[in-house]
Amino acid sequence: MTIPQTMRAAVVRDFGRPLSIEEWPVPRPGPGKVLVRIAASGVCHTDLHAADGDWPVRPAVPFIPGHEGVGRVAALGAGVSHLEEGDLVGIAWLHDACGHCEYCITGWETLCEAQHNSGYSVNGCMAEYALGNAAYVARLPEHSDPVAMAPILCAGVTTYKGIKETGARPGQWIAISGIGGLGHLAVQYATAMGLRVVALDVAEDKLALARTDGAEIVVNASLDNAAQRVIDATGGGAHGVLVTAVSRPAFGQALQMARRRGTVSLVGLPPGTFETPIFEVVLKRITVRGSIVGTRQDLAEAIAFAAAGKVRAHTQTAALEDVDSVFAELKAGRVTGRVVLKLDGQ
Ligand SMILES: [Zn+2]
Ligand SMILES: [Zn+2]
Repeated sequence: MTIPQTMRAAVVRDFGRPLSIEEWPVPRPGPGKVLVRIAASGVCHTDLHAADGDWPVRPAVPFIPGHEGVGRVAALGAGVSHLEEGDLVGIAWLHDACGHCEYCITGWETLCEAQHNSGYSVNGCMAEYALGNAAYVARLPEHSDPVAMAPILCAGVTTYKGIKETGARPGQWIAISGIGGLGHLAVQYATAMGLRVVALDVAEDKLALARTDGAEIVVNASLDNAAQRVIDATGGGAHGVLVTAVSRPAFGQALQMARRRGTVSLVGLPPGTFETPIFEVVLKRITVRGSIVGTRQDLAEAIAFAAAGKVRAHTQTAALEDVDSVFAELKAGRVTGRVVLKLDGQ
């Protein structure tokens, strides 16, 4: 494969300013790395935070955002023996981790303190080429559709892992709060995993989407008695509650609708804190648990559901040059499903 000297990339130069489309040198893969020619790059809420620099640890500018990158391996760095040129792979948020800390050796590499994150601490996938770490890129089935697979790399694995973390078993109820880019996939994963789904959102069109994705019951989260409705419909509350919403009231509501002995799993990341009613948590023996993306094994499982046709992200495509208008739409909450930037790879 002939690799050009330069590539188009969406670049964050200053926080809170529009991204610029620039010609950047195509990076060369060092030992253990692969160069990937990007075919599709999903846009995630985290990319907005990266570009605005509003999280406690900021990326160093200039940088290329994006951590839902799908494409084919264009070049191998030294020592890479389990991948070949032309393999279809995915670059996810967990770019790499140290491989030897207590978290890495116990299958919790997502908690490694020395991890690098794509599109944040290392350049990401909103470009024609991106580097991946060969030991951490996801293998994708040869004939998968890059646009359909891109959202699985973050939104998919994050919700799949979050559902696992509730411990809800097949036949039990899970309440999914927030039916956006994450939540609409959560409804599909939960349904495919044999769980019964209650979906909550403040927007009726998103609730309608949840129904088509498999939710048995939908409840408008803005109703005063929303939590009570969930408790009544599920005969005592949901065994698992997954909060993908980025509004703080959703967190208190999630605790109310959990069943006795239930687990509330949090994946949405609004700034700030939320009130935890101690009496309710203690007397009902509720577990509140954070969940962050997923390990390589979780990712392989999440991909398998998508490859089997059991989960499919609702996507709209846009060009790399449209990245700023996509960010604006996402910020305004006007995106249903996921926007994927389509590039020339594949
Ligand atoms: Zn993401
Ligand atoms: Zn580690």
